[in-house]
Amino acid sequence: MTISEALGRVRAVIEGAEEEAGRPAGSVTLIAVSKTFPEADIRAAVAAGQRVFGENRVQEAAGKFPAVKADFPAVELHLIGPLQSNKTREAVALFDVIHTVDRDKIAAALAKEMQAQSRFPKLLVQVNTGEEPQKAGIAPRETVEFVKRCREVHGLTISGLMCIPPVGDPPAPHFALLDELARRSGVAFRSMGMSSDYETAIGQGATHVRVGSAIFGYRDYGVA
Ligand SMILES: *Cc1c(COP(=O)(O)O)cnc(C)c1O
Repeated sequence: MTISEALGRVRAVIEGAEEEAGRPAGSVTLIAVSKTFPEADIRAAVAAGQRVFGENRVQEAAGKFPAVKADFPAVELHLIGPLQSNKTREAVALFDVIHTVDRDKIAAALAKEMQAQSRFPKLLVQVNTGEEPQKAGIAPRETVEFVKRCREVHGLTISGLMCIPPVGDPPAPHFALLDELARRSGVAFRSMGMSSDYETAIGQGATHVRVGSAIFGYRDYGVA
């Protein structure tokens, strides 16, 4: 299957899921997750009409996207992986949306960089819905308070929440929890759902789905 064909299939699934959920057509944004894939694959997706992309590493994205964005200014780039405070300058310069705000140190660093660059990416707070010790994200019970602190202490506008459910768990309860926390936090975006579960996520209120392998194919990380 070509990237164009795969994109067509994913878009059809999204349309079906929107209809099934009684949600307006076009209410879900497809983020094509291009991590590990070369610039040529990104350009193939752009040629097939895709404009919104996700990468999980600042460094990798910095190697691929400036040229694509120069040729296609409508391309929108989302950071969906962890952000270190020493990378905030580069992240603010390159990304249009950052999904992984999850602690005060990062919130403060972003606020400072955004003012310095007069560049204001949209921000989402990552929630560790499964409370997994090794996973990034704010605990569910601290989420409403953290969003409030981002606004009142750090002066940031928070647009939404993001989660990655634990591997092996049924994802629907995690998506329902994120939807509920977003409602209680007063934010609109729900970034949830990947190749294996984006249909389910749309049923639970996803506004942004992050789909990689279903578009670009199997990821080879080059590790044995
Ligand atoms: C890689 C990644 C995705 C996409 O995963 P697929 O299973 O390939 O669709 C989505 N979200 C995050 C945070 C990722 O790191």
